[in-house]
Amino acid sequence: MVPIDLSSAPVHPHVPNGVNGVNGKKLNGVNGVNGTNGHATPKSPAKQFNPYAPRYADFLSNVSNFNIIESTLREGEQFANAFFDTETKIKIAKALDAFGVEYIELTSPAASEQSRADCEAICKLGLRAKILTHIRCHMDDARIAVETGVDGVDVVIGTSSFLREFSHGKDMAYITRTAIEVIEFVKSKGIEVRFSSEDSFRSDLVDLLSIYQTVDKIGVNRVGIADTVGCANPRQVYDLVRTLRGVVSCDIEIHLHNDTGCAIANAFCALEAGATHIDTSVLGIGERVGITPLGGLVACLYAANPEYVKAKYNLPALRELENLVAEAVEVSVPFCNPITGYCAFTHKAGIHAKAILNNPSTYEILKPEDFGLTRYVSIGHRLTGWNAVKSRVEQLQLNLTDDQIKDVTAKIKELADVRTQSMEDVDTLLRVYHSGVESGELELGQRHVLDRLLEKHRSQSQERMPAAAA
Ligand SMILES: [Zn+2]
Repeated sequence: MVPIDLSSAPVHPHVPNGVNGVNGKKLNGVNGVNGTNGHATPKSPAKQFNPYAPRYADFLSNVSNFNIIESTLREGEQFANAFFDTETKIKIAKALDAFGVEYIELTSPAASEQSRADCEAICKLGLRAKILTHIRCHMDDARIAVETGVDGVDVVIGTSSFLREFSHGKDMAYITRTAIEVIEFVKSKGIEVRFSSEDSFRSDLVDLLSIYQTVDKIGVNRVGIADTVGCANPRQVYDLVRTLRGVVSCDIEIHLHNDTGCAIANAFCALEAGATHIDTSVLGIGERVGITPLGGLVACLYAANPEYVKAKYNLPALRELENLVAEAVEVSVPFCNPITGYCAFTHKAGIHAKAILNNPSTYEILKPEDFGLTRYVSIGHRLTGWNAVKSRVEQLQLNLTDDQIKDVTAKIKELADVRTQSMEDVDTLLRVYHSGVESGELELGQRHVLDRLLEKHRSQSQERMPAAAA
């Protein structure tokens, strides 16, 4: 996101209430629509129209002011492969805390006796993150939850016609009555409470807004929107959150399933529309294909405001956290995973490699060093370029001229046309070329001499092999 200079934006005195006060933070009455408030001075026409000036809607954005509710130990338990014993849950909770998420959400203590005991055990760890548990909108569950020592309770009930008809079979009047009872009970225990609908995007908008308004009035801390079936697109998410932002003053949480691959984009749009809390899980694990992945969301928000995200989270801890969860659920981290996928910072094409070596920002929006990782410039392939090879020559402290590097690059391409060369293959070639030049045996363009030197090197190393093996 381009930083916006607010200093020149006009101040509008009549900003409607209702839509500010996000996270208790008063937004200044700046609407940024230049030239529309009638106070612009005609003497400075250049200032009257600025297409890049912030728009009113920009001040709703919480892209640089959000909390993560990490649900690996709740939603993640619904992942097909997941079975977390107590020890694993504690390890994951500690790793999430070390990363710096603001909230850790746990499976309902009403689910099983072990779930209840684990919930108590995690509450006793004294983590910095607040501990939440996720329950059905039911007094029986609420009574068990408040006794576990959690900092807050996330209450959920289905509001779509599908869920009302085929799941719990209750009408909106019953849902509202129960919600009020549960919320008032949890609040009376002095802990946070969130009320969320389920399958929000297929619920009746009037029903939704009216129940959210009701629970907001009785002092719920957050209302939650859930794309339980993963059907929403970014624009729908923006519109619903934006509408909700106009009718409630409490915080807004969003829970997004990833069935169509939109979960990260949807989370970003939710923040832009004024949501304050985003649900995630490590690697996105959850029911079906899961929810917004923590690492992917962090990548997306880092791209928008790196300083804010770096200050908030221990980014180098991400890889270890993902490896821990991947191992626990017996999957591997996908190659295309943002930040930690094995090729996330690998640069291959010659043109890319050259620019990366001059200035990494040319092709990197994320800095690997901020995540405790390093970039890798791949050079043993037919798309390689001599600038990338030169950088490797320098790393190996070999002394070759640019013409010699171009000459050896042509050989790398020739070999890579047959098969991709490993870094070791390339290093060997560079060393053989270099010693040929040093000894005076090899001159520019003498491909047959180079082939002979390479062959000699190969047979010498094969001769050494049995000795090395013994
Ligand atoms: Zn879910």
